[in-house]
Amino acid sequence: MTYFLSLGSNLGDKRRNLKRAIGHLKKASVRILRASSLYQTQPVGKADQPWFVNQAVEVETDRTPWALLALLQSIEKKMGRTKTIRNGPRLIDLDILLAADTIMDTPDLVIPHPRMAARNFVLVPLCEIAPGVLHPVLGKPAAALLAESCDRSGVHKIGRWSSRSRPSEPQARNRIFL
Ligand code: ADP
Ligand code: MG
Repeated sequence: MTYFLSLGSNLGDKRRNLKRAIGHLKKASVRILRASSLYQTQPVGKADQPWFVNQAVEVETDRTPWALLALLQSIEKKMGRTKTIRNGPRLIDLDILLAADTIMDTPDLVIPHPRMAARNFVLVPLCEIAPGVLHPVLGKPAAALLAESCDRSGVHKIGRWSSRSRPSEPQARNRIFL
């Protein structure tokens, strides 16, 4: 089955954390079909924390949604993510956004991800790789969700220049956008 995942980090070497997470996925035989650029994104909900780096990926795996969630949580743990508060700082956050046209609503796993349609840091990277992918509950493609999104938080694509030529945190911008 193909899935869309959201990767995020706002602690330590954020870009390296996303790369390492993708490395762990590959090692677990999850095929990476498409990966978006990296985006610097303004924290939503809890503003007094560093900006995040976010990315969306499309992957292929035989795993069920439950098995994939267990793998994502084991990768988060292996990478050293400790218990975090909702919307708070985290070394790595791996979420399932979409699982083809699967709809499920359980206490521990909700697909499509319940907050994806209200978060530009999810929708902007997702639209880069799959603007036409359908949200099976809302019945709309990702591009329409982004066009209708009320989220006004900053999402900036990170250019292809090397990480050393630019600070990882847009401090100057931060002040302007916050
Ligand atoms: P956040 O909502 O900020 O990503 P966490 O990463 O701490 O918060 O996740 C909290 C819980 O969300 C997890 O323990 C997991 O069981 C649950 N969850 C429900 N639906 C999903 C999903 N689609 N992807 C990932 N986690 C999910
Ligand atoms: Mg999560």
